[in-house]
Amino acid sequence: MSRLLFWLALAVLVVFAIRAKIQAARARADRANGADGANRANGAGRTPLESSEAMTSCAHCGLYFPVSEAVRADGLDYCCPAHVRLPAP
Ligand SMILES: [Zn+2]
Repeated sequence: MSRLLFWLALAVLVVFAIRAKIQAARARADRANGADGANRANGAGRTPLESSEAMTSCAHCGLYFPVSEAVRADGLDYCCPAHVRLPAP
């Protein structure tokens, strides 16, 4: 009997773990495109410019990141101060 309860408890734990994973993934997906999608759906609220930020790429490594985090030098955007000092590949 106790063995049955053990397996039942294990099954319940697995189901809850999978549910939590699915909800986390869904929440992440909603955050990724939900702000724009929700605003477009109800036609109100923030504009896309307010809810998303312009991206730029590093002149050295090509990494894309928000403009607000850019390190600017000589009219170019870099991801970090270390890449400012390195030559473009
Ligand atoms: Zn870089």
